[in-house]
Amino acid sequence: MDTGLEFPETVQYVQSFAKSRNERLKIAKAGNAFWDNVGAFGPPAKDFRWCCKVCKLGPLTTLIEENYRDGTVTIEGNRALESFARTDIGFVERNPFVPNQTVLNPIRHWIAAEVWGYIWMEDLEFNPLYEQDFERIGCYLCASCLGSEWKATGEIHPDLHAEWEASLGEWGEQVGVSPEFVRYGFWRWKSLPPKMRLVAEELQMKVPQMRSDSMELRISKGASPCVAGGFSMEGVLTVPHKRDFSQVAEALKTVGKVKFSPEFEVVMVKAGDGTLKMFGGGHISAIAPTRDGAQALFRAGAEAFLRGQLCTSCRICERNCEFSAITADGQLKVDDRRCRQCGKCVEACVVAHYYDKLVTAGEGRPAYAGVK
Ligand code: SF4
Ligand code: SF4
Repeated sequence: MDTGLEFPETVQYVQSFAKSRNERLKIAKAGNAFWDNVGAFGPPAKDFRWCCKVCKLGPLTTLIEENYRDGTVTIEGNRALESFARTDIGFVERNPFVPNQTVLNPIRHWIAAEVWGYIWMEDLEFNPLYEQDFERIGCYLCASCLGSEWKATGEIHPDLHAEWEASLGEWGEQVGVSPEFVRYGFWRWKSLPPKMRLVAEELQMKVPQMRSDSMELRISKGASPCVAGGFSMEGVLTVPHKRDFSQVAEALKTVGKVKFSPEFEVVMVKAGDGTLKMFGGGHISAIAPTRDGAQALFRAGAEAFLRGQLCTSCRICERNCEFSAITADGQLKVDDRRCRQCGKCVEACVVAHYYDKLVTAGEGRPAYAGVK
């Protein structure tokens, strides 16, 4: 997996490792995917790793499909002690974003000393960066890297370091946070954990509970009874405008029957007993017989809006559609004769998952509370 953000040492190490063993090396490359998307999503955060999906899972799914039509089994070095998220990884794992891969984790119970003991015992080559104060080597600008590792990156690769620092600085200006917010690494969380709030207190810095980005969801009317009967919910979703509104209309075909007026940039969707109206400016209005129905429809509309506007062309949705109803090679296309509105492509879509972050961003704003 070459995310396009690898250390040059890592790329070289992988190539020489494969060569020395005379092994075929297949590389799934993300190319410029990170830089193409960072403007829309903002810097990746420990609690929002859109980059993993865009730069790893998308290209990986494509590589597997192109080379191993029946799927594949991969053997990985994931370990339970690496993070809380991995605490209970099993020997066999599957990832919903990569439907054609089964992962085996044979060393999941090893501790780091055992890994290094094995490397030395077998006299294996290892990434030279481990000898330069790196404890864990991923992408060079990873939000999860240690502050000391980021400092080391600055010494070894000042160009890469400067490029990301400049990008963070630009983002900070755009969203209106202080240079200190960026300098002290608060950007690394979307929602600050208690320890970082304490740090902020000690530094006497005012920090927002939630990192602000260029996307915003404003609920103007939470799901509530409608004069005409049923329940309705309304809001406005603002995203950096990337694509033509027709793409939103296309994504909405996975929600229901779509009527689209390109001239007025308005889409009407009939989904069961509910009706959804969406406008080019991001206004969403959902009406359904029940409160839950109105909330679900609103959510479906917002997710389609995000997909239509911010699709990264990762094509993970294609692999998750068992009816071959969707294609996303540059342009989203949904074949409404095939689509069963099963929602699997939405569940697998990194961009649609941004909805949860936007909803959480409304913490403290009661109108958001009922959406999830
Ligand atoms: S709509 Fe499909 S191609 Fe686009 S971001 Fe979502 S999963 Fe990827
Ligand atoms: S997975 Fe396929 S059938 Fe299901 S909603 Fe998406 S496009 Fe339609």
